[in-house]
Amino acid sequence: MNYEGNVYRPPSEAYSLIIQATIGCSHNTCTFCPMYSGERFRMRPFEDVFRDLQEARREHPHVERIFYADGDALCLSTDKLCALLGAAYSIFPECTRVSVYGRADNIKAKTDDELRQLKEAGLGMIYLGAESGSAEVLKRVSKGETPAELIDAVQRAEASGIPVSVTFISGLGGKALMEEHAVETGKMIGAMGASYVGLLTLLTAPGTPIFKDMMLGKFKQLSTPEVLKELELILENADCKSPCVMRSNHASNRLVIKGTLPQDRDRLLAQVRAAMQDEHLLRPKQYRGF
Ligand code: SF4
Repeated sequence: MNYEGNVYRPPSEAYSLIIQATIGCSHNTCTFCPMYSGERFRMRPFEDVFRDLQEARREHPHVERIFYADGDALCLSTDKLCALLGAAYSIFPECTRVSVYGRADNIKAKTDDELRQLKEAGLGMIYLGAESGSAEVLKRVSKGETPAELIDAVQRAEASGIPVSVTFISGLGGKALMEEHAVETGKMIGAMGASYVGLLTLLTAPGTPIFKDMMLGKFKQLSTPEVLKELELILENADCKSPCVMRSNHASNRLVIKGTLPQDRDRLLAQVRAAMQDEHLLRPKQYRGF
């Protein structure tokens, strides 16, 4: 199989077969993101992806899940995605789920009918980085998408039957926008109706614009107590109307929580408040990582 550049996958795709449908990210300008820096975005020819699938078939007798990388394979046309989904399920008939990373602008570019076609073709999950519910934070990190666009995209994908797993980044507003980031992120979680929400904590990677701003003193990272305060505010403002599995179990997080909103909100809040009082409930700093 031919992997090119850095290959990433969501934590829950740890045991999936990873196949690159695209290389890099079509946006590639988020100031905090080191994932595909230096890589020129391109779509791989269908024949190359098909060859990878066949090669993987020879190596793997049983594949339950397939993840089409890279950063936003959902940018591919609906026809091409349907062809890729069809190829995956025909070569791996035992496969139960094929998923991709996607951006809100990828979803915006598709009609409701196209989203339904993707659902019928077997698109089982879209992983989408919303990062923040705050318009100002999204602007500062060059996300290239607004809160309204993010909410609309997730609502449309979920309405078509495709579950969306949305990630947000604790600390992305820094000290200056901490409260706004937390409150607006909580409100976005309540409004967008995602099946899954994951929280990461900002780790600034050398070479990224946000790292340079931090070195220059223009961006101030949150302390652990501030991250916990932010998490408390996010939960307090997340009024979910439909079940949303919320996890903060990424390697970057000091506090691991998991539950389903809205019913587990009080328990999760109690866990956060307990950790504010007792740092032994936190994951040791040395275990944090990207
Ligand atoms: S965060 Fe996502 S959209 Fe932004 S540059 Fe990284 S991969 Fe691309």
